[in-house]
Amino acid sequence: RAKSQGRNTYQFFSQEMNAQATRLLEVETELRTALVEKSFEVYYQPQVNLPIAKVVGFEALVRWKHPERGMISPAEFIPIAEETGLIVELGRQVLEQACQDLVWLNQRLDYRCYVAVNLSPRQLKDPDLPAYLDNLLSRYDLPPQYLELEITESTLMDQMDLSLPILHAIEQLGISLSIDDFGTGYSSLSYLKQLPVHSLKIDRSFVRDIPGDRDDMAIISAVSAMAAKLNLEVVAEGVEEREQLMFLKETGCHLVQGYYFSPPLPRDKVLATCERIREKLKF
Ligand code: C2E
Ligand code: MG
Ligand code: MG
Ligand code: MG
Repeated sequence: RAKSQGRNTYQFFSQEMNAQATRLLEVETELRTALVEKSFEVYYQPQVNLPIAKVVGFEALVRWKHPERGMISPAEFIPIAEETGLIVELGRQVLEQACQDLVWLNQRLDYRCYVAVNLSPRQLKDPDLPAYLDNLLSRYDLPPQYLELEITESTLMDQMDLSLPILHAIEQLGISLSIDDFGTGYSSLSYLKQLPVHSLKIDRSFVRDIPGDRDDMAIISAVSAMAAKLNLEVVAEGVEEREQLMFLKETGCHLVQGYYFSPPLPRDKVLATCERIREKLKF
C-alpha cells in the first residue's frame, strides 16, 4: 500500500512538473516575442533626498504590456527571464530605455537626476556588460554618475569568481552600485568596502512596521550609523506613512522611496509628480 501511494505521489509530482515545464516554455516563447515587439515599458519611482527636500533620482522598474493580460508585474516574469537567459536582452532594453528617459527628464528639470536600474545574477556574469555600459553612456552622452546599478546581496555573492572582474570593470567606468533589499540576504560586509558600492537600500520589510516594531527601528538605526561611517548612502524602500518618514529623517536615513511620495510611474507622469513632491516637502 505504501508502495502504491509512493508511486501515486511520484506520478502526481511528475505530472505537475510536466505542466510547469510546459508553462515555462510558453512564457519563454511569449517573452521572446515581447522582446522582438518591444512590449516592455519602464516605470520610474522617485527617490527623495529629505535634507534637500528634492527628488534626486528614479528607480527604473520594468513592466510587461501583455496584449491579453494587461500590465504584468516583474515579480512574475523576471525570474523566468533569468532562468531562460532572456534577462540579458531584456536587461539591455531596460538600460537603453532608462538612459533615454533620463536624458528626456533631465532636459526638462532645472537640475540633474540619476537613474537606478536593477540587475539580475546572469547580467552580472555577462562579460560583455562593461563594454555595453560604456557604449550606452557615450551614446547618450551621460556621465557615469547618472547611472546606478541595483543588485541584491544574493546576486552579489553568487559565483563571485565570475562577477568580481565584471564588477571591477564597472567600477573603472565610474558607475556605482546600490545593494538592493539590504538586510534580507547574506553579504559580507568586507565586500561592501572593496566594491564600488555607493548605497544600501534598506528592504521594505524593515520599514513596514515602523513605528510599532522596535527591533526594525533598531536595525535601521544601526545600518544608517554603519553606512555613515563607511561613507555609504542609505535608501529606505517602501515608505508609505508619514510616521515612517519622520523616523527615517531623525535616524539619518536621508534617501527614501515609496508610495508615500509616489508609486512607479510612466515617464510622462514623472515631471508633474516631482513638482507635487516638492510642494509636499514644504510642509
Ligand atoms: P525592487 O528592486 O526591490 O523594487 C522595489 C519594488 O517595491 C517595486 O516593485 C516597487 O513598485 C515596490 N514598491 C515601491 N514602493 C513601495 C511601497 O511604498 N510599498 C510597497 N508595498 N511596494 C513598493 P515592482 O516594480 O513590482 O518590482 C519588483 C521587483 O522586480 C524589483 O524589486 C526587482 O527586484 C525586480 N525588477 C523590476 N524591474 C526590473 C528590471 O528591469 N530588471 C531586473 N533584473 N529586475 C527588475
Ligand atoms: Mg531595486
Ligand atoms: Mg528592493
Ligand atoms: Mg525586492
